[in-house]
Amino acid sequence: MPEMIKTKIIATLGPSCEDAGTIEAMIDNGVDVFRINFSHGTLDEHDKLLETVNAARSRHHQMTAVLGDLCGPKIRMSRIEPEGQMLYVGDRVSIVPGNQVGTAYRFGTNYEHFNQEVEIGHRIFLDDGQITLSVVGRDGEDLVCKVIDGGPLSSRKGVNLPDTPMRIPSITEFDFECIDWAIKRNLDFLALSFVRSADEINRLKEYIRKAGADIKVVAKIETPQALSHLEPIVNASHAVLVARGDLGVEMDLAEVPLIQKRITKMCRDFGKPVIVATQMLQSMIENPTATRAEVSDVANAIMDYTDAVLLSGETAIGKYPVKAAQTIERIARVTEAYLDKQYTVMHPKSTTTEELELTAAMARSVGQLVEDIDAKLVAVWSQSGSSARFLSKARIDVPILALSSDERSCRQMCLHYGVIPCCRPIPEDIRQFTLLVDKLITENKWSQAGDKIILVAGQPLGAPGTTNSIHVHNINT
Ligand code: ATP
Ligand code: MG
Ligand code: MG
Repeated sequence: MPEMIKTKIIATLGPSCEDAGTIEAMIDNGVDVFRINFSHGTLDEHDKLLETVNAARSRHHQMTAVLGDLCGPKIRMSRIEPEGQMLYVGDRVSIVPGNQVGTAYRFGTNYEHFNQEVEIGHRIFLDDGQITLSVVGRDGEDLVCKVIDGGPLSSRKGVNLPDTPMRIPSITEFDFECIDWAIKRNLDFLALSFVRSADEINRLKEYIRKAGADIKVVAKIETPQALSHLEPIVNASHAVLVARGDLGVEMDLAEVPLIQKRITKMCRDFGKPVIVATQMLQSMIENPTATRAEVSDVANAIMDYTDAVLLSGETAIGKYPVKAAQTIERIARVTEAYLDKQYTVMHPKSTTTEELELTAAMARSVGQLVEDIDAKLVAVWSQSGSSARFLSKARIDVPILALSSDERSCRQMCLHYGVIPCCRPIPEDIRQFTLLVDKLITENKWSQAGDKIILVAGQPLGAPGTTNSIHVHNINT
């Protein structure tokens, strides 16, 4: 088995990866997390996809997780028929009340007050801003628009309204339906779109907690409001997603690269995993190879210390879902080899609790020790995943084997750069832990006899929040 890459790959599920073979091949090619986008397809379709994913992952020994992406207060067009119809500059388009199936020239939206709140003169962006309309009049309840920038239009594309203040709630009724669905099906992550404040994240966390579930919450940063409250949002969330699609419409497109850097930097400082998303390999929806610009973008995201990169349409509706995963894997492998040669111990800090402050300090020391003694691997007993998270954030340049007896914690560790999660019963003591690590390393050929590795644990093993010891261990022959 070639050495695993450290960057985590998230792939969106959709019609292109309906069959078990494709899902298996995606896992074989490095996909760590599958994303279900509740904005597309039906819950019944998602159930089918999830069943296929669950069957495939139970056959693989590497861990995979599932993330549900909630629509949040995002306005979308109705379904339209036929798909992909062209809109040309100057064409007239009517937006009608309701959300029934329409055409590219006459469609509705999922927001009931859309036609009242949008006014003449306002601009309407469709599909991450690919198509622009301008409202030129009203015809009864319909909004009459003129096409300013044309293009092909398909169902349920996102609608952005840069000129209209909206009163849509942050977590909609449909979102709650999806949250309940996700809880019932044991999803590992829920992402909330269009987050505007930390309150919304806390509300979602509270709802999940009250339901007795343990799902980590990911904040999708895609609005100017989120950027003005970035620090509290990052603090409140378990992970953060740079949603460049809507960000590029809601903000000046030219600012997106800087915003990406600002968010990834803040997540590094606060020890939170961060995902970069949208158009990573967009051209691979149609083509078997990526453009130079796309390859460069993925490599640069990894150099900015993103934990994970997300494929959207490339795997959901693209012609080459497996090749897209392979391409990311290859870019990550080459970029990581370069990064590993740099001296890059990071300084994650935590502002939340004293206990995590200690965990962050331990992670920095381990990073230093790895450099100084040329250790080949770090093994950590991380029952809840926090220790693994901070070790990951320290950007230690060797693999981090993270063990826990809690299968969900293991799955949730699939989002952390460089972490190989592994689920095992809690060993009795450090000696037993060492033997277990030796065995895993030998079985998987992660390092060789004579190599030094570092063990990080607490006593008693498995009690959360007790990580306080570092051991150096030589792999035996
Ligand atoms: P978001 O803003 O949440 O990213 P999106 O509309 O950009 O939403 P993506 O998940 O980025 O959606 O996927 C890109 C495109 O792939 C979508 O616009 C849609 O056309 C298509 N797609 C994604 N998932 C599905 C699905 N399950 N069924 C059908 N089409 C899908
Ligand atoms: Mg989006
Ligand atoms: Mg998208």
